[in-house]
Amino acid sequence: MWVVSVPEGDTVWRQARDLRAVLEGQVLTGCDFRVPAHATLDFTGQTVTAVESRGKHLLMFVGGQVIHSHLAMEGHWDIYPVANGRAAKWRKPAFAARAVLTTEQASAVGFSLGTLEVLPEAIVGNAVGHLGPDLLGPDWDADEALRRLLAAPGRAIGLALLDQRNLAGIGNIYRNELCFLSRVHPAATVAEVPELPRMVDLAKRLLEVNKDRTQRSTTGGPARGDAASWVYGLAGKPCKRCGAIIKHGTLADPAHPARAARDIYWCPRCQPEPGGR
Ligand SMILES: [Zn+2]
Repeated sequence: MWVVSVPEGDTVWRQARDLRAVLEGQVLTGCDFRVPAHATLDFTGQTVTAVESRGKHLLMFVGGQVIHSHLAMEGHWDIYPVANGRAAKWRKPAFAARAVLTTEQASAVGFSLGTLEVLPEAIVGNAVGHLGPDLLGPDWDADEALRRLLAAPGRAIGLALLDQRNLAGIGNIYRNELCFLSRVHPAATVAEVPELPRMVDLAKRLLEVNKDRTQRSTTGGPARGDAASWVYGLAGKPCKRCGAIIKHGTLADPAHPARAARDIYWCPRCQPEPGGR
């Protein structure tokens, strides 16, 4: 049902919307957690009262508890129709399934989830309370996101945008595209971004225009192939703005040396490297 792409805030927002449509207000007729910590937990007979996304986290409220999942790199929830008590055939191998929630009409299956835990509703803040304002949430607050970003002015903007404690919902595609659109190299510091409020507004607009699409575009062009992005995934191709050849590298986070450095893409003319100016 979902196009394979790196889950960013818009992807998770769509999954929450689709899951809400089939689960919210519905009584579970089946419940199967395939992770050791929750293997014996069973919400069968209970009603799912709400399904929400917070940044890249998904929350399902049922029986005074919250099923918290995070899609990480490859996770997703599929929805299958149920007829005569049987769900349609899964499109993914059963060994990848981590949770199966079934109602009379639909079955939601979480595959390859990065995180799956069940928490008492009262402490759900422990799981998502650290998140900054959610770009697609009802609590979106641009000033608060700016305040959080500016609290570490010497940090690379490419790292600060990915840090969900600053603002929630940006993944690797958006951070690269936002840097291009703001004409700033991902390794430049937050303080070096010429118009940070504009960049934050742009982040909000990009996620908003993409949240109802199944294929992402940050260019306003068709969401297919090279036309869908300015720099992301386009190493060696000419910049759509100036024709220079787009570069590719990685950006490590000095605060988390054990984490793999994520890919960055930039146009060397539109986004000069810091120090090279
Ligand atoms: Zn360029």
